[in-house]
Amino acid sequence: MPCRHIHPAADSLPVLSLPSGALAHTDRTYDYDVDRDPPNVEPIEHKIRLDFMAGGPIRRDELLGGYNPWTYDPDAPDADPWAKGVKPKPIGLEYAEATCRRTIDEEVQYFEHYEDDAVLTTAPAFLAHRLRAVREQPDPERALEEERERRESWYRKLIPGMNLYQILKSSSYGSLIETTIGPSPDVPALTQQNAFVGMVIVDEETDADAYATAQGLAPEYVIRENRLSSGRDDVSPTLSDFGITRPAPLLVGEYATGGQYPFLPWGDALVCSCPYKHDKPWRVMCKHELLAAVVAGSTDSIFLPVIRGIEVPHRARRFVSPDIAATHTPRIDPY
Ligand SMILES: [Zn+2]
Repeated sequence: MPCRHIHPAADSLPVLSLPSGALAHTDRTYDYDVDRDPPNVEPIEHKIRLDFMAGGPIRRDELLGGYNPWTYDPDAPDADPWAKGVKPKPIGLEYAEATCRRTIDEEVQYFEHYEDDAVLTTAPAFLAHRLRAVREQPDPERALEEERERRESWYRKLIPGMNLYQILKSSSYGSLIETTIGPSPDVPALTQQNAFVGMVIVDEETDADAYATAQGLAPEYVIRENRLSSGRDDVSPTLSDFGITRPAPLLVGEYATGGQYPFLPWGDALVCSCPYKHDKPWRVMCKHELLAAVVAGSTDSIFLPVIRGIEVPHRARRFVSPDIAATHTPRIDPY
């Protein structure tokens, strides 16, 4: 049920109605239920976005070629495909891997005090949910150990090797910069081939052209949800899966690869609606969100720019939680 109604600056635009799960954790009407709602934007996802924002544009020569993420083993001696020094490693990835390592240490307290509700209120929503379930198990100590291993595997194996390395391939992120000029595409070049477009997304019953005329909007910026790439794909979520009411003024990513995916306000940030991101709940970033991080980083802003189209509300452009942006510092651990 929508609980927050954000009025755009222009009267011609519809109200952006958001559910309680899209709000900041500090908002008094924030409410998120692991069993009921889509996966939250975990703190690590906000941090990794900030890491890639700080890392700057990704260069073509940094991207992997024939890497197979499904065989990744963090304990193998040649686990890091950049370690041979053939390719330079993206700085943003160095930051993100350091963030994952630090987060394992920072979360030890939740495993040590998993019976203490006061401690768990500060834990990420999914972890708190799992640790509460541990208490109900016949052998809590063993269940706790399995949960610890599962969480550590996410930070050590799934996030870096099976997700971030995979999107840092020529065939993934590389497809978004393929037609840009030069070895190191800067942000003006990136946003010529890929754009964040302010649009009103309407339902299947609505005649988009008639709606645009009635509201005085340019017809190219009003679109039916089922005309978007996300609306034609079974894995991609719909706006209603995330409790967002149509018509909705949202930012839509239009990419060099031809895809058109809206950014959904969720978990105090935005989530790309492409199938890659939603096919596996453990994925923390898709190539579109990586591009968004690079673009946001160029102006050192947690808001994505509207490259063209209507001026959507600020909330529809806020890519990272302000609370996490204020406390996270991208850095490489001293070893
Ligand atoms: Zn995506």
